[in-house]
This record gives sequence, structure tokens and C-alpha cells, in this order.
Amino acid sequence: MSSIASVASAAADLSASFQGQLLMPADEGYDVARKVHNGLVDKRPALIARCHGVADVVDAVALATKLGLEVAVRGGGHNVAGRATIDGGVVIDLSLMKGVRVDPVAKTVWAQGGVTWGEVNRETQLYGLAVTGGVVSTTGIAGLTLGGGLGWLMGKYGLALDNLRAVELVTAEGKVLRASKQEEPDLFWGLRGGGGNFGIATSLEYDLHTVGPIITGGPIIHPIERSRDVLEFFRASARSLTDEHTLFATLTHAPDGSGAEVAALVTCHCGQPADAERAVRPLKQFGAPIMDLVGPMPYCQLNSMLDANYPRGALNYWKSNFLKELSDAAIATMTDCFARCPTPMGQLLLEHIHGAATRVGAGDTAFPHRQKGYNFLVLAQWMQPSDTNRCVAWARETYESMRPFFAPGRYVNYLDDDEARDSVVAAYGQNYRRLQQIKTKYDPNNFFRMNQNIRPLA
Ligand SMILES: Cc1cc2nc3c(=O)[nH]c(=O)nc-3n(C[C@H](O)[C@H](O)[C@H](O)COP(=O)(O)OP(=O)(O)OC[C@H]3O[C@@H](n4cnc5c(N)ncnc54)[C@H](O)[C@@H]3O)c2cc1C
Repeated sequence: MSSIASVASAAADLSASFQGQLLMPADEGYDVARKVHNGLVDKRPALIARCHGVADVVDAVALATKLGLEVAVRGGGHNVAGRATIDGGVVIDLSLMKGVRVDPVAKTVWAQGGVTWGEVNRETQLYGLAVTGGVVSTTGIAGLTLGGGLGWLMGKYGLALDNLRAVELVTAEGKVLRASKQEEPDLFWGLRGGGGNFGIATSLEYDLHTVGPIITGGPIIHPIERSRDVLEFFRASARSLTDEHTLFATLTHAPDGSGAEVAALVTCHCGQPADAERAVRPLKQFGAPIMDLVGPMPYCQLNSMLDANYPRGALNYWKSNFLKELSDAAIATMTDCFARCPTPMGQLLLEHIHGAATRVGAGDTAFPHRQKGYNFLVLAQWMQPSDTNRCVAWARETYESMRPFFAPGRYVNYLDDDEARDSVVAAYGQNYRRLQQIKTKYDPNNFFRMNQNIRPLA
């Protein structure tokens, strides 16, 4: 453990060459820089190294090694478990690294590790191109892609990680590597699902596809009394979706701030307008919605339309699992649990996964969950610290009530902070052993362990 004086002295030595900012607790800007998306996470790093480029990242790794301090890596800061920050350690913060370069001819994009989905989409949509990214615009590309990447375009183009061409990585030794199908292929396999376990992704390159700029999407909102009908209709609709068409269902609260509970379908169709119009017609004709906002809109608008529902600094506690099937009993349990939701920002979400995301072999990338079906997410979100205990308790109780319907396997990007190590092992299933071998090769001392950790082999 290093003293404040030794951290200050090492930071002062580095500051002559460091292009970004080195922030210690007494520095202006430290309190803003230490905050992440989830307001429940309140950690105080010894040093925040806000990097400007790859050389800053290499120097920050060397500094943490010299000081013997633990490291956390921050991309977009959205990880609900708060793995992007650390008490008493060094945060290697990439959020100032915002470079994005689109090659519209080759249909690729290169983006640095601090970029968010809104930022990448803004550039790629200039050319009517996109890659599967997060459902909201404020999430970081790095954490989301390295762990998986469920999003509006996954039926047609696979997960975010399925579109990766290459990753530039700074290792625990401070080496700069490039991983792709041709270079360091084992590492590239592990990076596609293995999260931040192998190093710091300073930039990521993706394949792009023709998307929009106008797509068809939005939410359709029904009264909460129709929850069961809406979820049954969702289940029936999900059976025959084309790849272009993604459909999620949620029991949530009205976006008008009234706190009214509602059942909603949220959709995106990235195909031709006439096909999209035909595909969303049954959704629009079902029941008697309170509000129907599904229609043509720019892809960037779809990507940001839910942002306001997840404000930065709100207190969050999430739990999730893939479902075996969405049975009548699962629907009934969800409906009953949501009736007990203690917060007007709480939500139960079903993300339907099909199409291209499910046509990749479970062992082709480190992300093994390739079966058609649903990811179930309990999303407890609230503003007042005095509500914390009851909101966390509701999320845990709801999760336990839904357990009989769970499939094996969980999505690492949604694991919460109190998950036992068993959850990480279970999350990777058959791929865990190979991930351990790659971890042992690239990070034998587990320098990168503030993540959903893969343990190196002894
Ligand atoms: C409001 C909200 C919406 C979300 N929506 C979606 C969604 O639509 N689809 C989906 O799949 N997930 C979604 N997520 C979950 C999201 O994938 C994870 O929270 C993910 O970790 C966020 O990435 P980040 O870069 O913002 O995270 P950070 O908190 O910055 O990082 C999380 C972890 O990722 C690793 N990491 C981050 N950057 C790097 C890097 N450059 N190099 C190496 N490792 C790195 C580190 O281990 C770090 O601890 C959402 C989360 C929130 C809060």
C-alpha cells in the first residue's frame, strides 16, 4: 500500500510527460471525475489518471505497478457493479479519449476506448452506417462490447462484439498489442466476451452496416392492468420476428413522471420502410395503447430516446438472468413482483434475442449465450439514499421469485457487485477454461481484476 506522499511524488514525476490529467483527492475536479453512472457507487481512488492517448495509458499502468496499487479501468463508466472505479487504487480513465474515424468505403469505424454509443453513432450515421451498440446512447463502447453488447441491431448484425475487427490493447506489462482474427487470435477470441480481463482497450475497430438514417421504432405503452396480455402478445410476436426486427417488453413507469405503472413494448426495425411498416402493424393494432410512439425516426434518435429514463447519478441495483422460456408462470410471477416495485424508476425488462446474435457458435467467441430467447433484467433505480434498502430488497426478492424460470448462464455486463465468483464462472460456462488459459498468458498476476474476474491458472 502506497502512502499519499508516494502517490503524489510519482504523479508529479509523471506529470511532465503525461498529456491528460492526474487527479488526487485534494485536486479540483477529483470529485466529479470519481463519480460513475451508478450513484450507489461511492469510491475514492488514490489517483485518477485521465488519459489522453495510448502513451498516457502505458504510463498509468507503469505508475500503478511501481506504486503497487490496484487498478480499475474506466470506459463509459456505466457498469452498474461499479467496476470502473476503486477505493485507494488507480483509476485508468479513458473518458477523454474520444477519437472516432469512419471509413465509409471499407464500411468500418475506429473508435477510442472512452467513446460512447451516441458519439460513435453520430459519426457513422453521417454515412447511413451503424454497428450494433447499446440501447441507450450514453453507455461506453468499450465495456459494453468487451462483455457482449445487446442492442437494437443484434437480430440483423449480431452482438456488438460480433462486429469487432480488431482491438488495440495495453497489457499489464505495458505492451501495446493489436488483436484481430490474424494477430493474437486467441486473445481476440477472449476479448470478445471476456471483458476487461486481458488489458486496456485503447481503441476498437468494427464492421459497419447500412442502417437508416431513418429506421422505424419506438415504444407502445399499455395500461398496467393489461400486463399479462401484453407479455403474452410479446411472446407470440417474438416467435416470428425477422432479423431486422427487435422487440423488448417491459413493466415500467410512465415516462411523463406521473409514476403510473405501465406495460410497454419497445421496438426497432432496421429494414426497408415498407417492410418495417408491415412488421410493426400488428404491434400497433394490439389492444388499446395509452400511447403509441412507434414510427419512422432517425437511428440516432432511437438510440437516445430512452436516455432520460436512466439519469446519471441515479442509484442503481440490477440483477439479470437468461430465461429458459417465457412461460405463463414466468409472466404471472413478473406481474406479481412488479406490483410490489417500491420505486417509480424501477422496471422489469425482457430483452428478446434472435437472428444473427444466435447464429454464432457458443465457442466461436468467449460470449457463450447464443440460444434464442430472453434476457430477464430487474432494474431497481431510485434517487433517495433512504430508499436503498427496500429497492435492493425488491430486486433480490424478484430475482429469487423468477429463479425457477432461469436458463443456465448470465450476462456479465449486468452482474451486480454482490455476485459471488461462481456467477462469473457460470456466466462463461464451457468457455471459462479457455478464458483462464488466455488470462494466464496475458495477465498471469491478475493485474486487471477489478472486473467480472477470470482467475489465472495457478
Ligand atoms: C443505463 C444503462 C444502459 C445499458 N444498456 C445496455 C445495452 O443496451 N446493452 C448491453 O449489452 N449492455 C447495456 N448496459 C450494460 C453495459 O454493457 C455495462 O454496464 C458495461 O460495462 C458498460 O460499459 P462502459 O464502458 O460504459 O463501462 P465502465 O463502467 O467504464 O467499465 C466497465 C468495465 O468494463 C471494462 N472496461 C471498460 N472500458 C475498458 C477498456 N477501454 N478496456 C478494457 N476494459 C474496459 C472494465 O473492466 C470496467 O470495469 C447498460 C448499462 C446502463 C447503466
